[in-house]
Order: sequence, then structure tokens, then C-alpha cells
Amino acid sequence: MINFDNIRAEFPILSRQIYNKPLVYLDNAATTQKPRCVIDAEALVYQTINSNIHRGVHHLSNLCTEAYENARKTIARFIHAPHDHEVLLTRGTTESINLVAYSFAHSFMQAGDEVIVSQLEHHSNIVPWQLMEQTRGIVLKVIPITNEGELDLSLLPALITPKTKLISVAHVSNALGTINPVKDIIHLAHARNIAVMIDGAQAIQHITVDVQDLDCDFYAFSGHKLYGPTGIGVLYGKEKYLNQMIPYQGGGEMIQNVSFTKTTFNELPYKFEAGTPNYAGAIALAAAIDFIENIGMKNLEEKEHQLLDYAHQQLALIPGLRFIGTAKNKSGVVSFLVDNIHPYDMGMMLDKMGIAVRTGHHCAQPVMDRLGIPGTVRASFAFYNTNNEIDLLKAGILKVKQLFA
Ligand code: PLP
Repeated sequence: MINFDNIRAEFPILSRQIYNKPLVYLDNAATTQKPRCVIDAEALVYQTINSNIHRGVHHLSNLCTEAYENARKTIARFIHAPHDHEVLLTRGTTESINLVAYSFAHSFMQAGDEVIVSQLEHHSNIVPWQLMEQTRGIVLKVIPITNEGELDLSLLPALITPKTKLISVAHVSNALGTINPVKDIIHLAHARNIAVMIDGAQAIQHITVDVQDLDCDFYAFSGHKLYGPTGIGVLYGKEKYLNQMIPYQGGGEMIQNVSFTKTTFNELPYKFEAGTPNYAGAIALAAAIDFIENIGMKNLEEKEHQLLDYAHQQLALIPGLRFIGTAKNKSGVVSFLVDNIHPYDMGMMLDKMGIAVRTGHHCAQPVMDRLGIPGTVRASFAFYNTNNEIDLLKAGILKVKQLFA
């Protein structure tokens, strides 16, 4: 039996007060809080082994390099990547997606070739492709969503043409919490020789991700949404693609030999890791993964499922509250609107009660446009949240309603 109260106590920030009230942190989709072991792991790097990696012959540099490469191994094991060198360390999901957009478009696409995304995407999985539209002449197509906030996959086959080279979709929507049937999409795409990239920014912390079982060609996520530090992220990519893709950035470490007549590139994964990486962040991310694996992904999923069910059940009792996004399969997020209260006003007033939620379009403006709303209030959960915090949210919403009545 897992004691989630004890686990919660490992997160120092969760015991702080906001305006003299206990913090109720329900903005986990934006970023998660960090357990003590992650904070300590990052500090310990700087206290004991700090040295630039892959460069020195000296002892500290070797220790730091070993810790960094062990972190890569931990990440590879966590997502069940077939090879460590298929795990690239980046700054986050945004950089991972930009890397694929730039390098895949430059290496495998001609002007007129097509990429398909969905209407449910975070701007990070839209704008990099629009940049490739402007600079490379690729064509961007969009899978529409239904009123419930699910992908309308019946429309996908008609979007695919012989020019479709890649489909890039979110595993879980950050705005609505919809879990997309990515395995079906990958199956359908591979039958037509199309590569698939999955934006896992909102899935990796909630769902067991096995990149071999998914058979995705690329999978991107951020460390800070997985209880790790900011400024570190991951791109898993199949070596058959990565080997043929041009580097995203040039600089130190990503080269084998540099001269003004011919420069050659390093092998994977270093070809895609130009410059000094965030080794302290990578090592602390591995500590976060160890922490989560200690709890067990299954236990964590179960707890979060219970919290999501309880939140839906309790918030449904509030008159005038309308859920936005009612997909059958959801994870981590409840988006809603109450009466005619603007989401921003609701968020501001909940904040005064110590309750942190996010309001607005959540970097997913096309979702809001499709649903004809300016934005939502979003409560997003992690395993350290409690039913009591959901009760406080409900009481807070009722209070705001009274003030607006
Ligand atoms: N994709 C999704 C679905 C997200 O929710 C986010 C962040 O909220 C991102 C991409 C971008 O992540 P980051 O800002 O960590 O790069």
C-alpha cells in the first residue's frame, strides 16, 4: 500500500503558504513540483562533480560525464528505448519538436511535401511546422477535433496523400486532457510509409510510455513536467531517421573533425547535442525518474485516475459549471467555465484563496477557436494532490460564483 501523504511530504514547496493560506497547487500541466531528491541531485552536481563533460582527461570531468551518460541510460530505460544513443538530451519539448521540424524537413522533405498535425496541438507543435512552411515550402494539414475535444480520425485518411511525410500529434492534450489514440495513428501512418512524431509533454508524467510498443519514430517530452528540473528535455528518435538527418545546431561536441575544407559530424547522440549541455539538469531528471519508478507508474496512474474522477464528480455538482473537453479517455486535466465568469477573473480570485490554476488558451488557441470560447480555467493534477484540495477548489469556485451573483 503506497502512502501518498509521505510521498507528498517529499515536496518542500507543497507545505508553503500563499496569502497565509495553504498552497493548493493545481497547475501541474504547466510544471510539476520537485521532490527533495531532485533538488538535492542538482545541487550535488555543483557541490561535488561539476566539470564540463566529454572534454576533460581529468577526474572530475570523467565523473560528470559518467553521471550524464548514466542519466541518458535511465531515461532510455524509462521509455524503453532500444538504444541509449536514440535518446537525445534537449532543452525541453519545444526544442525537441523544433529539432525534428528543422532536421526532418531539411533531410527528407521537398517543397510541396506535407506534414499533418491536429487541431488539438500546443503551439509548440504548430509553429515549428509553420516556420518550415515559410522557409522550406512544406504544406501543413490539420486533423479536426469534435465538440468533445477528440481527434476526428475518420477524416485522417482523406488528409493523407503520396506527399505526406510525417504526422505529428500530442499524446495527451494540455488544454483538455484528451488522450489521443496515438497507436492507431502510428499504425495507419506506417502502413503508408509515413513517419510519426508524438508530443509527449502531457503524457510522460501520467502514462507508462514504451516507445517500442508505440513504435513511434520520434517522442518528445520535458523534464520539468516529470518532476525534474527546467531546461532539460528529451527527444527519442529512431536511429534510421536520426542517422540521416542533418544536425539542428552546429558547435562543439557535435563534430568529428572541423576544417575549412570539410567538417564531419559526430555519431549519435552527440551529433544533435551541440555545445555544453545541461548536465546537471539531466542528472537531476534521472533522479526524478528514479523517484517515480520507486512509487511505480501503475500506482501513480491509479492515484491520478482517482483524483480526476473525484474532480469531475465534485465539480459537476456546481450549478453553471460547464466542462470543456469531454473525451472518453482523459488524463491529468479538468478544463471548465462557470456561468459568464471570465476564466481570468476566476483564476485571479482562486489565487487569493491560495489555489493555483491556469486560465486562458493554454498555448492552444486553435482549440479555443474551434470550441468558440476565449479560454478555460484549467485544474491539472499530480499524484501528490489530494481529494481535500479538490474540495477546496470546489468551495473556492462556489465562493467566486457568489461574489459574481
Ligand atoms: N506540448 C505540450 C502538449 C505541452 O503541454 C507543452 C507545455 O505546456 C509543450 C509542448 C511545451 O513544453 P516546454 O515549454 O516544456 O518546451
